[in-house]
Amino acid sequence: EPSFGSSYYTFMGWVDELRDMEVRTNADTPDDAVRALEFGAQGIGLARTEHMFFGEERVTAMRRMILSENKDERAKALEELLPYQKQDFMDIFEAMEGRPVTIRLLDPPLHEFLPDEEEGVRALAGELGISFQNLKQKIRVLKEFNPMLGHRGCRLGITHPEITEMQTHAVLSAAVHLKKDGREVKPEIMVPLVGTSEEFMHQHEVIDRVAAKVFNNEGEAIAYKVGTMIEIPRAAIVADKIAAEADFFSFGTNDLTQMTFGYSRDDAGKFLESYQEKGILKADPFQILDEEGVGALVKMATEKGRTVKKDLKIGICGEHGGDPASVRFCYQLGLNYVSCSPYRVPVARLAAAQARLQSQDNVRQK
Ligand code: PEP
Ligand code: MG
Repeated sequence: EPSFGSSYYTFMGWVDELRDMEVRTNADTPDDAVRALEFGAQGIGLARTEHMFFGEERVTAMRRMILSENKDERAKALEELLPYQKQDFMDIFEAMEGRPVTIRLLDPPLHEFLPDEEEGVRALAGELGISFQNLKQKIRVLKEFNPMLGHRGCRLGITHPEITEMQTHAVLSAAVHLKKDGREVKPEIMVPLVGTSEEFMHQHEVIDRVAAKVFNNEGEAIAYKVGTMIEIPRAAIVADKIAAEADFFSFGTNDLTQMTFGYSRDDAGKFLESYQEKGILKADPFQILDEEGVGALVKMATEKGRTVKKDLKIGICGEHGGDPASVRFCYQLGLNYVSCSPYRVPVARLAAAQARLQSQDNVRQK
């Protein structure tokens, strides 16, 4: 429980009066959501859904879904996961009390849900009633040399549309349930790792089809948005085409940095410090957006998107969303919101207010 003195609230009240860019949070649990609200978040800009599948009762169903070659068995496993997901989303929507919540469809490579040491594989083989050798072989087939560039993000939703179907069903039935209870809910479904407008359209169609079915069954409909992460350089290149189909963009600058610089998100620490010491890089590109790096792609995609859709809602949910210099950069580009981890929300609010004070327009207005 954060507890601040009253002068903090007075000061942050002034900050918010000056600020005209929204600050959201990245949160996947109701606890994080509540903490972020206390820090002043105005919505969730990124709810990652992968962590939701690691609970003990769920991971087995998830593993059955991944490993089964039989469509009906996969469907059955997803059916078991549906009520859990529905509850996850209800809890988050409730915690956010009517503020917008962006839920991202499953993103990581599937083998992340599978055990890799012998002991775990043996236990799972027992649980699934298959031989150890057979399971080991299946896991070997799923392994990838470059999983972060592999079968993940919307690629999963395209090869396994039933995952997108289950998650959409859970999001929208949770939202309808709360609406029937008289609560306000603003669900936004976000497609990860999109690189072409065709990928996005494929997932959009699946989402809309499920939405129609859910609303028909429930006898109640709810407004929802469908948008995309912009986190592959190619998505920035074709942002105009994607914008034609999307309700919003959210820049995933963690992946976008990895793919633009060709630096592994997980390993670049091994040389980045030395690069900065030797003046080869001015700053860590995973922390700071600038014109010569990923910022140029953010700018390009924003301009292309808004050429097609003047009022396209655009935010950022990579680590940069909580970095003051990057928040200023986003403000200058005209982004609608930044989204960052709960603890960085106050700093982002302050940075957004400062950015407005520093902007030319504001100076001219005065
Ligand atoms: C990103 O890539 O910037 C992002 C927000 O998503 P994740 O960190 O989950 O890949
Ligand atoms: Mg990403």
